[in-house]
Amino acid sequence: MSSLKISNLSKIYPNGVKALDNISLEIPNGMFGLLGPNGAGKSSLMRTISSLQEADSGSIFLDDLDVFKNPTALRKVLGYLPQEFGVYPHITALQLLDHVAILKGISNKKERKNLIEYLLEKVNLTEQKNKKVKSFSGGMKQRVGIAQALIGNPKLIIVDEPTAGLDPGERNRFHNLLASVGEEVIVILSTHIVDDVKELCSNMAIMNSGQLVYQGTPQKGIDELQGKVWRKIISRNEVEAYQSKYYVISDKLIAGKPLIHILDESNPENGFEAITPSIEDVFFSKIKQTNETASSL
Ligand code: ADP
Repeated sequence: MSSLKISNLSKIYPNGVKALDNISLEIPNGMFGLLGPNGAGKSSLMRTISSLQEADSGSIFLDDLDVFKNPTALRKVLGYLPQEFGVYPHITALQLLDHVAILKGISNKKERKNLIEYLLEKVNLTEQKNKKVKSFSGGMKQRVGIAQALIGNPKLIIVDEPTAGLDPGERNRFHNLLASVGEEVIVILSTHIVDDVKELCSNMAIMNSGQLVYQGTPQKGIDELQGKVWRKIISRNEVEAYQSKYYVISDKLIAGKPLIHILDESNPENGFEAITPSIEDVFFSKIKQTNETASSL
């Protein structure tokens, strides 16, 4: 069993943006979802864990490996799939994986060949191995990305916004592939798409404005909201009035009409219907609560 322990991590960029505000988080083996709206600080955190950038203060340990003191050792056990995986567009999938394997120190040619064949099979790209990565669809590129991240038996795999731009079929295949990576490594999935976390992750955290606003199992967050989430379909011209009267955590259009979700400890009456909370409700209520705390300071 491995664990990644992040303690009191802070980072202020030269332009004054506080991207990481005293983050402490322990991540066990298995799939871990890091959720947050755009600009929350997810990529800053992922890059810091991957030792691609430094923090101002705090520490990160992968078991007893001090990531800041020993970034080279960390990189040997890290598989990193960045947001845009398109760095070597003009070479084939096979060439790309071979190149990465050499970079990761697998110098034995036979060993490299066997490993790459195994990985191509695993990500279902054996037939396309001699095609240029440039010609691949978004989903295929992401699968090459996962294959290269798996080279070298990583203990820690980081995937940053992996499903943005994938169609539903590709997204499904990518999810199944990630799930098959297994429970024996730490996989951190950073995303603003709530469904990615819902389908895959046994543990999660939510970030907003550089802060950690939730950590635990998805179910714990749902249990905390049990009996407190209510919904109602209203007219478009009523949205503002409802927002000032109720604690509206989300509104979306259903067949052209706003469907609002509100938080209330007791039955708000007025045509509201009680619902079983979802991870979306957890996400939106945490984001709203922290935005309000920030604006009242
Ligand atoms: P996320 O991945 O959740 O979208 P980021 O970590 O990319 O969030 O960004 C967090 C905040 O830091 C944002 O306000 C962003 O504009 C800012 N930011 C990110 N990278 C830099 C940088 N290199 N220099 C200055 N500000 C940055």
